[in-house]
Amino acid sequence: MSIVVVGSVAFDSIETPFGKADRTIGGAATYFSVAASFFSSVQLVGVVGSDFGSEEMRIFEGRPIDLTGLTRLEQGRTFYWSGAYGYDLNVANTLDTQLNVFAQFKPTLPESYRNASVVFLANIDPELQLEVLAQVDHPRIVALDTMNYWISSKRDALAEVMKKSDLILVNEGELRQFTGEANLVRGARRILDLGSKIVVVKRGEYGVLMISGEKIFAAPAFPLENVFDPTGAGDSFAGGFLGYLASCRDLDDRELRRATVYGSVVASFVVEAFGLGRILEISRDEIDSRFEEFKALTHFDSMRS
Ligand code: AMP
Repeated sequence: MSIVVVGSVAFDSIETPFGKADRTIGGAATYFSVAASFFSSVQLVGVVGSDFGSEEMRIFEGRPIDLTGLTRLEQGRTFYWSGAYGYDLNVANTLDTQLNVFAQFKPTLPESYRNASVVFLANIDPELQLEVLAQVDHPRIVALDTMNYWISSKRDALAEVMKKSDLILVNEGELRQFTGEANLVRGARRILDLGSKIVVVKRGEYGVLMISGEKIFAAPAFPLENVFDPTGAGDSFAGGFLGYLASCRDLDDRELRRATVYGSVVASFVVEAFGLGRILEISRDEIDSRFEEFKALTHFDSMRS
């Protein structure tokens, strides 16, 4: 099963209390694609500039990531984001966002992308997300992620995409910003009221809540001693989550719970190094063994059983 993803492919400059990285490769679609490619094949839609050369392209090499839909504009520069984190790694402070080639990007999906079963509308202009969605025939799952930048600048278009999505991934600060609701469960229900079936609330080091109808599933973040850079954790969570789901025949509650844990496991590797450093090193076997550790971590027996 294949996943179409649209989102940023970027250069990021990042500062955390543990170090910094200047113009490292990042972007929501980049983290997502690499993460999802451990489970399913991915078809990427995006744009880069002339500064994104063959050396940068190598991060996608040897993985089932189709780059036919990744345009390169010779006369422009790649999307650039710069952010800083304090000791509370759950809060990213954006220092600079330069849309560059994304400002005028109009995607036309290759024919081979149009029958994808899963569409992931990763963090980018919601109007662009709508344009991509309109070009996919009958996807089984449409999932959406976004960020404070788009909530404040394109709220109406974002609400439009939410109405057309089955699954919405959002971090807790953005959920509060979008709904004005302090309580996360109530906030998630406000989003479900717009028409989607599932909301996944990402809570950084506190884990995730998956809310669908009356059901709630909670998973902690994998406890790590060394966390260097949380950038990309949300997108790689989405990659593990949707990559695993796209490989499943049934989309029942058991699979959704496994998908949540796979998402958490992949994200736990990403934060162990700056940028894409760690995720480019790991294997599916390492993901599966941490998945088993996760099971042991969260298992307990009731006194009645
Ligand atoms: P996260 O997984 O939420 O940490 O996402 C981090 C990635 O989002 C970085 O690699 C950035 O390049 C990208 N990013 C930051 N701001 C934006 C934005 N306004 N639109 C699209 N992508 C962004």
